[in-house]
Formats: sequence, structure tokens, C-alpha cells
Amino acid sequence: MPIKSNNPKVTENFNFTSTLTKRQLIELEACTRCGACLTQCPIQDVTGDTSISPPDKIALFRSLINRTEGFQAKFMGQAKIHDDELKHLSRSLWECTTCGRCGEMCEAGIFSQRLWPFLRAKMVELGYGPWEPQNMMEEVALRTGNVYNQPAENRYDWWPEDCPPYKEEGEIAYYTGCTTAYESQPMAIGDVRMLTANKIDFMMLPPEKEICCGFPLYVSGQHKILPDLVRPVIQDYADRGVKTLISSCPCCCNVMTRDWPRWWGGKLPFKIRHMSQFILEGLKEGRIKFNKPLNEKIVYDDPCYLARGVGVTEEPREILKHLPGVDLAEFKDNREMARCCGAGGAVKKVFSENAIKMGRIAIDEARELGAKKLVLSCPACFQKVNESREGYAEDIEVVDIMKLCSEHL
Ligand code: SF4
Ligand code: SF4
Repeated sequence: MPIKSNNPKVTENFNFTSTLTKRQLIELEACTRCGACLTQCPIQDVTGDTSISPPDKIALFRSLINRTEGFQAKFMGQAKIHDDELKHLSRSLWECTTCGRCGEMCEAGIFSQRLWPFLRAKMVELGYGPWEPQNMMEEVALRTGNVYNQPAENRYDWWPEDCPPYKEEGEIAYYTGCTTAYESQPMAIGDVRMLTANKIDFMMLPPEKEICCGFPLYVSGQHKILPDLVRPVIQDYADRGVKTLISSCPCCCNVMTRDWPRWWGGKLPFKIRHMSQFILEGLKEGRIKFNKPLNEKIVYDDPCYLARGVGVTEEPREILKHLPGVDLAEFKDNREMARCCGAGGAVKKVFSENAIKMGRIAIDEARELGAKKLVLSCPACFQKVNESREGYAEDIEVVDIMKLCSEHL
């Protein structure tokens, strides 16, 4: 898979630090090569390729800094950086799903889920990324407002007939997100049915105003247009009186929590909440009731950007435990240590085969546990693990948590 640009030879005047924060520069120095993260990588498990190794990526990036700006460069002059080194680094950065599992094991405190997108941003700046088809996303997002090149006006085409139309102003807002709206529509339907069942008014922006949250561009290192892309959306919510913004997509929640404030230029004018947090309140306060039992064993798979990204692990489980008759099993690796399903890092279409294999590992473990349903809470996981299941495992369903819950009201 070719990368966007293919510089023949890189020799001088490169700067490898400008896209990084102080914390990230310290993180690059902090890796002791202890190896604790080496057994955690789900990509390495399915490819057997050790070049993705976190300490190797860090060591190479650190050496690029040293040779161009560091101690070595100061005394001996800037070294030549070879095209092959950058191509190698680009591949190992892009094959990674940015799941962040390696970071959970890191005693040096490297927040890898956050570090990799910033290293990618430098590679993009140098012309060694993004990879196809990610390299279309910037132009497509600016033109259509979504990264899937779909008509903006079709964003809510899945709207369930049994739900009243959304309002366009109010204190509580629901943000669908591009992947949910265009690629994982059962999830969007489940969200809206559960929000309706919660009996609290919610608003949505008109479809052509609900612009991409920026996550796919952020995670693929395409950071240039992000403030300009999301500021009008934030302003629009503020103008319509929004105090709480809810999304079911872990990636949207993550970027809204961590990055929207810096792109906005300060504290957001509203709170960000994940759908599971909002719906659990509705269950606890008695507005939502499950009347149809689910007499089955099910297992919940934590999305990387929800569990490791924003620390939401218990609310989805508590919601599922409200379903009468349910038997909730756990994966061996769960919560902050959950395995990536393969769909993250905006690479599900770049390294699709890896994602399919990783999805099947989750399906296999769910079947071994005797689960009849594998429950997800992420549109990328939902879409890709369902693809992994097709023609592979007919005896297990891959379902979205809100869609499942909406069928038991
Ligand atoms: S973030 Fe995940 S895929 Fe990337 S190197 Fe770490 S464990 Fe591997
Ligand atoms: S666990 Fe942290 S310090 Fe150890 S090798 Fe991995 S990245 Fe480096």
C-alpha cells in the first residue's frame, strides 16, 4: 500500500519535534526498553511482525531527533536521514491501531494511545503519510462534512419511524458521528430509541451542520485543518443552548474531551458525556425500564478509546446487568486491558486483513465463553467485527449495546 508522498531522499533541515508536546518529548526519553509492553500488541499477535514494537518505534524517533536537533547534531552537524528509515517508521506507525494497550503496561508512564497520532502527524508533515485511503479524508471532510464521502443531507436517513423528530435547540444534544451515521446505522437507531425512552428532550444539529468530530483526521496525523473544522460545530451547539453533548462513539467522545478544548481555545461551553453514562442515569432514576428478558449469556468488549481513552468501563456493564435474565460474561482481558478488535486508528480500511483476524480472535473467545451475543459500544468495532463474523461464525451475534437494550424496552 503506497504512502501519499514518496520523497526520494531526505538529507537535511528536518525537525522532528515541532508536532510534539513537552510531555511527549519526555515520554520519548523515558522508554527504558524494559520490554513489558512487547507481549501486549494485538497487531504483533496476528502478523508476527515485531517491527511494530513500541520501544523500537520510540528508539528510532528519538534517534531522528538526536541526529537532527540533539546533542549529536549540535557537535557533529545534522546527520543525513534516509528515506528507508522514514518509510520503515511510517509503516510501523500506521500498522498500529493506536489501541494503547502497550501504554497500560508501561511503567515509564508513556501514554501510547496519545503519542502515536502525534508521531504520525510529524510523518504527515514530512510526506510519509497518511496512507491510502486515509489521504482522501481531509478533502472529503471539508467538502461533505463526513469522512465517508456521503451526502451531508443523508446523515440521518436511518431515523427510526417509531421515534418523534429531533428538536434543533435545547440543553441536551446527541451527536451521531460519521461512522455511526453512515456505516453502523443499527447503532444510531438504538441510540435514538434509547434517548426517546429516557423521556428527556434532546436536540440534534441539522444533518448538514453535524460535521465530523475530527477524530479520523487527528488519529491519522492530519492535524492541520482540525481547529477550523470543529470550531463552527462547537459554536453552533453553544448558540442553540446546549449544556451537555452526548455521543455513543468512543472516538468522538475521546476527541471531544481531549482535543476540542485546545482547538476551541479554552474550556468548552458544554459537558461531554458518553451515551452509556446518560442512559444508566435514566435506568437508575426509573425513566427507562426493561420489560423483555434476555435469558442468554452475553459478553461485553470494551472499546479501546472508551476504556483506555476516557476511562468508561463500568456504565455499559451496569446497563447490561439491568436486562432481566442476562448472564454477563467477561473476557480474560477486559476493561483497561481489553484487546483491540482491530478497527481502531483509522486503519480498518488500510490494513483490513489485520482487523478481520483481530475481530475473529474476539469472536472465538466469546464462543469459548458460551456467549450468544458479543456486545460492542463503538461504531468502528460494530462494523468491522460484524465483517469478521460474516461466513465465519453463524452461532454468535455481534450487537451494539443500545440497539440490544432498545429491543428489551
Ligand atoms: S497501540 Fe496497540 S497496536 Fe499500537 S503498538 Fe501499542 S499495543 Fe500495538
Ligand atoms: S513498557 Fe514502556 S518503557 Fe518499557 S519498553 Fe515498552 S514503551 Fe518502553
